Amino acid sequence: MKILVINCGSSSLKYQVIDSETEHVLAKGLCERIGIDGVLTYQPAGQDKIKYEAAMPAHRQAVELVLKQLTDPENGVLTSIDEIDAVGHRMVHGGEKFACSTLLNDEVLQTVEELNDLAPLHNPPTLVGVRACKEILPDTPMVGVFDTAFHQTMEPKAFIYALPYEYYEKYAMRRYGFHGTSHRFVAQRTAELMGKKPEDIKVIVCHLGNGASISAVNGGKCVETSMGLTPLEGLIMGTRSGDIDPTCIEYIAHKENISMEETFEIINKKSGVLGISGVSSDFRDLEEAANNGNKRAALALDAFCHHVTKYIGSYVAVMNGVDAIVFTAGIGENAPGVRAQVMENFKYLGIEIDPVNDSIHGDEQMISTADSKVKVFVVPTNEELAICRDTVEIVTKEIVTETVKKVLGK
Ligand code: AMP
Repeated sequence: MKILVINCGSSSLKYQVIDSETEHVLAKGLCERIGIDGVLTYQPAGQDKIKYEAAMPAHRQAVELVLKQLTDPENGVLTSIDEIDAVGHRMVHGGEKFACSTLLNDEVLQTVEELNDLAPLHNPPTLVGVRACKEILPDTPMVGVFDTAFHQTMEPKAFIYALPYEYYEKYAMRRYGFHGTSHRFVAQRTAELMGKKPEDIKVIVCHLGNGASISAVNGGKCVETSMGLTPLEGLIMGTRSGDIDPTCIEYIAHKENISMEETFEIINKKSGVLGISGVSSDFRDLEEAANNGNKRAALALDAFCHHVTKYIGSYVAVMNGVDAIVFTAGIGENAPGVRAQVMENFKYLGIEIDPVNDSIHGDEQMISTADSKVKVFVVPTNEELAICRDTVEIVTKEIVTETVKKVLGK
């Protein structure tokens, strides 16, 4: 099957076409500045990137341009849009309604729309993208893969906030967690690398990118994760504060004489390692600055590693043990120094990091020694491939169900 994978933001749309049999990416790209002017990037496999300006007043035009580019006679990878067997959409917030991926029919879209309050920045643009695709490809099945779904197995003791219980009942306020598609993909791959069944192992997945989260996966099921009602909770991130005393929010607003909205803008966009260092949200810049003697850049890196260490330690306790600790996403895959610093404090678990760690940038590799009691891995995440696999599984099931119905004359 040829699957179009789409990830919509408020002014952007990332896309990939994946051949599900080979799992090869046939083409990928990005629409940016939707609703402003419009820039399309397109890269067919093995060829150079093409980038050009094209008017994208709304997501519909962005989808149309992507399809036009994919079927371009000169450098397209499809002869017709009919070659697209299904579309897999990355959906952000599924609330408590979606514990797995699902076919996006009108009823499901209505339910997602009802969850907009939980993710006002993320869910509405996703819905706009899905509806635009449905209009242009009315007969192509669409599947939604939710960032929150994998974490739905958490027990109430892990997801409940210690607020008046009625807020959970009335407003669905609780820990949801995000990056679930990545945590699931990486945890499953780790089991494969260890030659074990997911049911038989305890894994801690450290998804360390510009947005960062950690999850504890016991027997293939998520039992804890660091992000909360929104992706703001948990680890120190590129520009997000992560855990802070909630009183800080009121204190900043009061001292700086700014609104709640402006305060949240600071907590989301001007905090994290950028806020501490004043240098950058990018770890490459921070490492360079720290090496050149910048103390705040060094502090930002130290604080980041400290928080990751703290979460891993608590998740070992939550699971009463751990078999593997895995690093993924931009920092996790590419920053050996961060991995080594974090693992320093786990020698008590019998963890020994192999010097090979220093040379691993984006490759799948065990970075603990062969006799390390707990195994440590780098596993590159691939959310698009996970979305493609889910899409194929759901669409195939649907085809089987429809065929059975026809055979039975129902
Ligand atoms: P992601 O959000 O997963 O795309 O990760 C993006 C982040 O990964 C960047 O902001 C950097 O902080 C980090 N990153 C990417 N490449 C490197 C690298 N070679 N060394 C250190 N950090 C990196």
